[in-house]
Amino acid sequence: MTRMAEPQSFPPSEGASVLDIVHRCWGFDSLRPLQSEAIAAALEGRDSLVVLPTGGGKSLCYQAPPLVSGGTDVVVSPLISLMKDQVDSLRGVGYPAAALHGNLTADERGDIERGLREGRFRLLMVAPERLLQNGFLQRLERVGIRRFVIDEAHCISHWGHDFRPEYRQLSVLRQRFPRASLHAFTATATARVREDIVEQLHFRQPVVLVGRFDRPNLVYRVVPLVDRYQQTLEVLRRHAGEAAIVYCLSRNDTETMAGFLQQSGVKAAYYHAGMEAADRRKTQEAFAREQIDVVVATVAFGMGIDRSNVRCVLHACLPKSIEHYQQETGRAGRDGLEAECVLLYTAADAMRWESLFRKSAKNAEEPAEVIASRLQHLREMQGYASVAACRHKLLAEYFGQAYENPGCGACDACLGEIEGIEDSTVIAQKILSCVARVEERFGVGYVADVLLGADTEMIRRCRHQRLSTYALLKDHTKKEVQSWIYQLIEQRLLGRTEGDYPVLQLNEQSWAVMRGQLAVRLVRPKKGRRERTRYEELSWEGADRGLFDRLRQWRRGIAEQRGLPPFVILHDSVLQELSILRPSRLDTLREVRGMGEKRTADFAPELIALIGEYCRQHDLPCDVMRPSVPRQGEPRPERRSSQARLAAFRLFSQRQSIERVAEAIERARGTTVEYLGQYIAEQRPERIDAWVDEPTYRRVAAATATSGDGRLKPIFDQLGGEVPYDMIRLVVTHLKQAGPP
Ligand code: ADP
Ligand code: ZN
Repeated sequence: MTRMAEPQSFPPSEGASVLDIVHRCWGFDSLRPLQSEAIAAALEGRDSLVVLPTGGGKSLCYQAPPLVSGGTDVVVSPLISLMKDQVDSLRGVGYPAAALHGNLTADERGDIERGLREGRFRLLMVAPERLLQNGFLQRLERVGIRRFVIDEAHCISHWGHDFRPEYRQLSVLRQRFPRASLHAFTATATARVREDIVEQLHFRQPVVLVGRFDRPNLVYRVVPLVDRYQQTLEVLRRHAGEAAIVYCLSRNDTETMAGFLQQSGVKAAYYHAGMEAADRRKTQEAFAREQIDVVVATVAFGMGIDRSNVRCVLHACLPKSIEHYQQETGRAGRDGLEAECVLLYTAADAMRWESLFRKSAKNAEEPAEVIASRLQHLREMQGYASVAACRHKLLAEYFGQAYENPGCGACDACLGEIEGIEDSTVIAQKILSCVARVEERFGVGYVADVLLGADTEMIRRCRHQRLSTYALLKDHTKKEVQSWIYQLIEQRLLGRTEGDYPVLQLNEQSWAVMRGQLAVRLVRPKKGRRERTRYEELSWEGADRGLFDRLRQWRRGIAEQRGLPPFVILHDSVLQELSILRPSRLDTLREVRGMGEKRTADFAPELIALIGEYCRQHDLPCDVMRPSVPRQGEPRPERRSSQARLAAFRLFSQRQSIERVAEAIERARGTTVEYLGQYIAEQRPERIDAWVDEPTYRRVAAATATSGDGRLKPIFDQLGGEVPYDMIRLVVTHLKQAGPP
């Protein structure tokens, strides 16, 4: 028990290695892609720009360096709530950090300023406007700051989607602190935004690190919108008791939707920029503390929310750009566990955005480029929503990254969920002829009414109940018919005028459809249960959901006692790992990734008791060993459900080559082969000829039969050293699985 650290023993002794510190403090046993490069740049004092997707692990990149080097680093962050959560979470692992912002009392501020002078903190978080106050800069000069970190750095650029004027002034940092290095972090940056950051901050030969944008734990679905409310409810029902964010277009929309959800028994609240600050804070807090499950919000909600276990992000309305979409869906599954992103799509929403853009352009007299750029972003978003192709691929490629994986297994297109309507062409013909019959003088709602055979005053006045197309689609609902009309518009098989009273108009294509020269495909939301993705299956493999729920409950209690949001205490991914490994002893608890020394010291007695009792009650084995055997010199086996391993498993199931997989998961060949071995042992694929060719397999199998004792060396020797060890190991593993139990 000697290695158990007391809280005050942080920061650990200087000179310790990065990995050692990260392990002791956070309980992680490896660094993620680009984290070590980012940390190295910081320690070398080289300017850096790090672009990692949400959930990619940016914070560790700036939290770790000052623990290694000593001194206080300053982090500029745009939102108080973000700072507070981060500081609370750092304190939970015994990391000395503070946040300086407008919501502090004079006493609290005085204490932090004193701590700063005494060098008590490793990190000090500040809002840009506070940092830039002259007095404060002078005080920092006196302290001698070594590193400045600019979080959410895209806020500095006009080209970004979240420009903040106060960020522009950060350019003075270089002048005022010529010897300090600057480190910018962001999750969304197109090349242009990147250049802007580097230029604005006067970076000197920066290290630029751009991570992979793909988020393998997210499932993307685009569902044709028919009934906004019912469809939203349907999706949320799949996530009962879990956290979800529903995005709407307008403030009004959020209120109506939240009201509807509440009536349907969902613990929901709305959130938008028109609310009083106090009410907004209340909603944010209730969500963070798991008192409500669903927040219905405009885009205003998000940056301030760090709840890492959001399991669903639902766009009830089309976002206005792919950048927004990426940022908003980025809030799902930050803990690395699976999460679902659903977009309800209708072309009507794009039209709504367009008319909003035009209005705001008129009112604000915005230059033509601004509106052109907005429309361009909108078109790209529409393109994403209306094409039935792999969503992971579309998104990766939008951000300039190749996506090799031929089928992601985690989007509606790849899961085969897009359901066409059988008689699409006939339906389209009926709709189009109706537009012709009403002489192209009416809008969507009216045409739908005629097709449905509605009895309205307007229809009677126009005598449209006498039309041959009247009631042609009477077996359908109005929402369905409208959805189809918008799908026709989307596919440019039907036109629609602009202005306040848009009417439907036929074009060349419409006539081609009516003449039967052009087939049409209309889609509908798929009914029935959603498949679990491979990712989800793998990450929950061996986990006990009941124990997971109990642990969540326990965590909620601790969080309440401490007045903190539960995710600040421990992430869901840690609870998941606890429910897989079920440690009943201190040494096995220490193995759990994400615990760290301080948390182990804090929670060991309670966790061990809780888990032990649960396992006794349910007759479950405790202290489950990780399946992978550590190689020599490796301190700890990889976490059972680590992201890379999961990604590798998914690719192996598609029979991708070792080289391909190694590249995709950014791991060495050796690690990849080790994963493949685990994959073969656990998933028992029938054949492994994708990795070991038939003749080699047969040779190894024959040699194994004669050598018998299971050691690899005799087999290797018997084959004259012609077959490498890792191939032999794969075959032996496979043979074991195939043999009698
Ligand atoms: P970002 O700021 O890029 O959105 P975070 O810093 O919030 O991402 O990290 C996302 C999640 O990943 C957190 O749960 C964090 O604890 C976890 N994490 C970060 N680095 C590692 C690591 N090296 N190993 C395991 N988990 C990590
Ligand atoms: Zn896909």
